[in-house]
Amino acid sequence: MANEGAVQVMLEASPDEIYDIELEHSLLEANAKLAVENRALLDKNGITAIDFMGAIGSGKTTLITKLVERLKDKFGVAVFNGDATTSNDADAIAKQNVPVVQIATINGCHLDANLVGKGLKRIELENLKMIFIENIGNLICPAEFPLGSKARVVVVSVTEGPWMVRKHPHMFLGSQVVVINKIDLAEAMEVSVDQLIADVHSLKPDIKVIPTSCKRGTGLDEVVDALLAI
Ligand code: MG
Ligand code: ZN
Repeated sequence: MANEGAVQVMLEASPDEIYDIELEHSLLEANAKLAVENRALLDKNGITAIDFMGAIGSGKTTLITKLVERLKDKFGVAVFNGDATTSNDADAIAKQNVPVVQIATINGCHLDANLVGKGLKRIELENLKMIFIENIGNLICPAEFPLGSKARVVVVSVTEGPWMVRKHPHMFLGSQVVVINKIDLAEAMEVSVDQLIADVHSLKPDIKVIPTSCKRGTGLDEVVDALLAI
């Protein structure tokens, strides 16, 4: 008998089975409160903060660098870099001569409003108009932790395969802009950009989806326009 040993079990935790649900609930509540405080501080200073979420290697740092290049001569831009252990990304962006705050989470898998709030106290806010926040490379829990930003951007790249969007719906549902990056590699990866766009729109019909190639410069002006319209 073929496949006799192939058993496929589906197991889904229900909320009351998660033992630390109480802890998690109050944690998320505390975070949400701090996010509101961050937002109030940003609004008071006329600053639009935008946070970028996406997997490791999706191209968040490169995208932010390209956006900074295009905007830094127009108005004050700063970047917050979440990174578990290294300063590679912050170092790369510091070359643009804009204020950079590196937030080392010490292996923590997401940024939270507390850390971002601390960062906001460490820089001069007066002359800033935009802050780009790079979250930790992770597609799950950053979605649960608002930071006080005005909009959230998800960066996915074709190198992550065809199922990226379908497997991480929460990321997309809580975001306003999706960047599908590295489209210059789509053919080599045999990934359909159109299908990824359709997957995003089937989750959230009104979300803005922009295919980009940071390498070739494709779509970057459109991302700038979308962010300026926020
Ligand atoms: Mg990065
Ligand atoms: Zn996390």
